[in-house]
Amino acid sequence: MKILYAVLVSLIFYLTGCTTVNYYTISYDTPVEFKDTLVYQKLINTSKNYLAGKRFFIDPGHGGSDRVNKGPKELAIEADVNLRVALNLRNFLTEAGAIVIMSREKDTTVALIDRSIMANNSRADLFISIHHNSPGASGDPNTNYTSTYYHAKEADYEYEPMEKDVARFIQRDMAYAMRNSGGLGSFDGTYSDYFIYPKKGFAVLRNTEIPSVLVECSFHSHPVEEQRLIIDEFNKIQAWGIFRGLYRYYRTGYPEIKFVEKETSDNKYYQLFYKLNDSSGIDEKSIRVFIDSLEIKTYSFDSTQSILQINIDRELKSDIEIRIIAANIYGNHTHPFRDKLFLITSKK
Ligand SMILES: [Zn+2]
Repeated sequence: MKILYAVLVSLIFYLTGCTTVNYYTISYDTPVEFKDTLVYQKLINTSKNYLAGKRFFIDPGHGGSDRVNKGPKELAIEADVNLRVALNLRNFLTEAGAIVIMSREKDTTVALIDRSIMANNSRADLFISIHHNSPGASGDPNTNYTSTYYHAKEADYEYEPMEKDVARFIQRDMAYAMRNSGGLGSFDGTYSDYFIYPKKGFAVLRNTEIPSVLVECSFHSHPVEEQRLIIDEFNKIQAWGIFRGLYRYYRTGYPEIKFVEKETSDNKYYQLFYKLNDSSGIDEKSIRVFIDSLEIKTYSFDSTQSILQINIDRELKSDIEIRIIAANIYGNHTHPFRDKLFLITSKK
């Protein structure tokens, strides 16, 4: 009977001209917040406590003369999908009281370096570049996952652990909203940009001085994903995922560093005092201190006062840069902190 059924099905496909069976259906889940205005409003209101007044620089990738990346049916143009997701994200963030600056608001050409220059001048707290992916000509066209990138690798001086923190929060909520996985190259779906361009990373992350991440929401090259990416509601869901990730990141918080005082006995040896502020508490083991690019261990932390004392026990010949990294008990790290120490004898 089963054989007869199989023959019959094959015959129908043969007669109707269908030679392949499409196992995919285009589907997505509408978040609970979109189904109930009260639930939506409640989350927006709560998010204001953490996002109001924050400045975000959103960079929708490509556009203008750069409209080459498209899906197999040429329905989804990457530049346009990036822009739709970015504009939706801007709406959510502005509703939450944040200030949003964008590298482009329409289909215009913006050079990569100009995106970074605009971001550096924006005084934004965070730069978010929005992209969609493809596996390249030789890759598997059925590849599809969500990934979020931070710049450099842990051993590099320019690596900022807080960028990975932000990437983790965005990645988790975005992948969940889209019901995508994070790919096979990473445990949590976040990647160093050296994974794509070893020792260089993405130009927009390398040249942007403010904290920055780049999201590759999914693969426009995937035949079914392409069809989801042209649905307005789906683009809104993608943006909602990023928004929720940001909201949760700022809700979890991160330590803030404040200079307290500087002591010197003979203009040679210095003690520097910094306050590490975090309502949840500092993870003492996470504290790292650098003089210029050299990591030092001559510091102590008073956890009751949350004061970090740095002892510079070698004679300094010139002005130096103090860099401090610390995490709160949830693992969120300080934002880039570099403090110039001008020697008293210096003419500056
Ligand atoms: Zn792109």
